[in-house]
Amino acid sequence: KAFEDCGFSTALMNAIAKQGYEKPTPIQCQALPIVLSGRDVIGIAKTGSGKTAAFVLPMIVHIMDQPELQKEEGPIGVICAPTRELAHQIYLEAKKFAKPYGIQVAAVYGGMSKLDQFKELKAGCEIVIATPGRLIDLLKMKALTMLRATYLVLDEADRMFDLGFEPQVRSIVGQIRPDRQTLLFSATMPYKVERLAREILTDPVRVAV
Ligand code: AMP
Repeated sequence: KAFEDCGFSTALMNAIAKQGYEKPTPIQCQALPIVLSGRDVIGIAKTGSGKTAAFVLPMIVHIMDQPELQKEEGPIGVICAPTRELAHQIYLEAKKFAKPYGIQVAAVYGGMSKLDQFKELKAGCEIVIATPGRLIDLLKMKALTMLRATYLVLDEADRMFDLGFEPQVRSIVGQIRPDRQTLLFSATMPYKVERLAREILTDPVRVAV
């Protein structure tokens, strides 16, 4: 398997090469073709497996496939992560691949000024990476609308549940149109996560490394 088989544009291939990614990791080999086909995916993988690029690269393709980009209309890609640290790491990975296309990425999490994040979201972005509590706060403040969101990622779902974010995660998912593509990544699949996956994913494909 090679990145060349994914049908990525030259700009994306160049960005991948620039990162020094020579070939896809096992989770990327399994997940990329399925995610790129538009299917929902349950990915059982840990940090260090390359799971971030497995959902970030298809997200860039998904966004570039949109006919018109009107920044004011809110993010197209929404990623929820359990902690600030993970949200920041995903932000850095997303930026690398978004930059060549001028796609705006915003990261919103606790411990940072809510007003600054409000202004950042108001200025417009195609991708938002967030911890659940902060995203709920900003949605309540109408800092963003989810009307255009069609690509949802729940990363480290088991940890989000361990941290008590199940209600927030459910509320966020409930605000995103049902005709979205949904990806759920988790290191483990406890019953609660499995139940959520059954409820919010449509005919998902399961990949595990
Ligand atoms: P992740 O599991 O997504 O946190 O990724 C772990 C590390 O692997 C990060 O530093 C990535 O930049 C790196 N990485 C992701 N995909 C590849 C790849 N195909 N080849 C080499 N390194 C990669």
